[in-house]
Amino acid sequence: MKTAFDLIVIGGGSGGLACAQRAAEYGASVALIEKAPLGGTCVNVGCVPKKVMWYASHLTHQLQLAADYGFDVAVESHDWKSLKEKRDAYIKRLNKIYETNLNKRNIYLIRGEARFENEETITVSEKKYTARHIVIATGGQPIVPEIDGAEYGITSDGFFELEEQPRDVCIVGSGYIAIEFAGMLAAMGSNVNLSIRTESILRTFDSMLSENLKKIMLHYGVKINTNKTPISLGKENGKLVLITADGLQSQPYDSLIWAIGRSPATANLNLSAVSIHSDESGYIPVDKFQNTNVENIYAIGDVIGKEQLTPVAIAAGRRLSDRLFNRMKDRHLDYSMIPTVVFSHPPIGTVGMTEKEAKEKFKDDIKVYTSVFNPMIYALSDDNKKIQSSMKLITQGKNERIIGCHVIGEGADEMLQGFAVAIKKGATKQEFDDTVAIHPTSAEEFVTMR
Ligand code: FAD
Ligand code: NDP
Repeated sequence: MKTAFDLIVIGGGSGGLACAQRAAEYGASVALIEKAPLGGTCVNVGCVPKKVMWYASHLTHQLQLAADYGFDVAVESHDWKSLKEKRDAYIKRLNKIYETNLNKRNIYLIRGEARFENEETITVSEKKYTARHIVIATGGQPIVPEIDGAEYGITSDGFFELEEQPRDVCIVGSGYIAIEFAGMLAAMGSNVNLSIRTESILRTFDSMLSENLKKIMLHYGVKINTNKTPISLGKENGKLVLITADGLQSQPYDSLIWAIGRSPATANLNLSAVSIHSDESGYIPVDKFQNTNVENIYAIGDVIGKEQLTPVAIAAGRRLSDRLFNRMKDRHLDYSMIPTVVFSHPPIGTVGMTEKEAKEKFKDDIKVYTSVFNPMIYALSDDNKKIQSSMKLITQGKNERIIGCHVIGEGADEMLQGFAVAIKKGATKQEFDDTVAIHPTSAEEFVTMR
């Protein structure tokens, strides 16, 4: 049994797998420790099953438009169980593919929970493994509030275990997960109540996005209960009732989903054995090279508490291995201008500063361009079905460098990646205007805005 390596990676999720595979490609001897199925949050209880559910709900919306295009389609029912079975089987196939990929690169897979013994030694089920370099890529888990009865609710992990579609469901939260789940469940016919503690959803996003999405969600039948801070969850006759700080009790729900953020998986790592700093929430601070405060120990992905996105974890992991095992001394991830999509209905794409942030930083030295239009897919539909798209470009300075780009509407999810390249490279409004449009698309609005 091999026990000494160039690199040990703790966590076989997005970041850990990417880091381990890149290092092995450079010839390093690598061990990867994983306590659960390979692929981590993204593959098992995150992006992948979520996107399957989003496609299902997107299809529901498309089916509602079918008659406008002359189709005689009557959808009598939907089989949630069959969708879940197929989704689970797809994920199992992915788990297997990840294992094959590790084998192909001679990466030593250790199953179990890792704990630090000292700066170079990790223990798994009482066996000891050593390495010159150790990467912490342990991700995180959903937060459950510390209030009475919280255990009656489920989290995003539990959502993916649901064997039946909940009829009356409450989702607590107003960030990515709450918004995405609310949109999916509503499209598929659940009665969705979103319980949020302020007036706004997606509070940290540009207000154009959050305000428009709120209106659209209401149009699709999602009830948004504002200024609700949960204080306890009760069970009555098999149904759940949420008590909030305003003293009110909710209607009864079949299911309640906590979607109030995630916490880092650092509690069981025995970090104190190696004096690795973590902040009060458990996140591990790192410098721009992913170095922790302890030499030769690094952290990547959700566990560092920056942008909690799969491509961010992957990019950080690959760059770290480029630096450690391919002599690319200055290789590191630049965390600026990271594009992101919220898979709402319709989706949101965003990169760079919000208008509020830009105003605070650059005062009057910004210009804002907006566009609101009906996407052509609704051309044959009556007004009640038409969901408008909205876009915003924010520029700064005399040469009008684009510092913010925001879109909500049909196709926004697939639209943003290319624009994100241009914006990262410092594109100006004039360069957008000089680019010939692709017609007829929604994306062309970005190069024709005046
Ligand atoms: P993870 O993928 O969480 O991997 C960490 C791994 O470490 C896990 O497999 C865990 O079992 C293992 N581990 C933990 N502790 C130990 C230990 N002590 N010993 C051994 N193994 C251990 N991001 C996007 O970019 N797009 C999306 O559409 C998207 N959708 C999401 C939807 C949901 C519902 C959720 C919850 C997240 C979503 N994300 C999305 C975020 C994305 O999943 C994470 O940012 C990403 O998975 C982080 O990767 P990571 O490698 O840091 O951690
Ligand atoms: P988010 O950080 O996106 O949102 C959490 C929300 O919960 C906040 O909007 C906050 O609202 C609310 N909240 C926090 N604490 C409480 C509380 N005690 N009671 C009520 N509401 C509360 O976290 P998510 O859990 O939605 O997602 C975790 C991360 O996963 C995201 O940040 C994202 O990085 C990633 N993710 C990415 C996706 C994608 O790329 N499409 C999809 C899903 C997840 P407020 O402060 O406004 O009151």
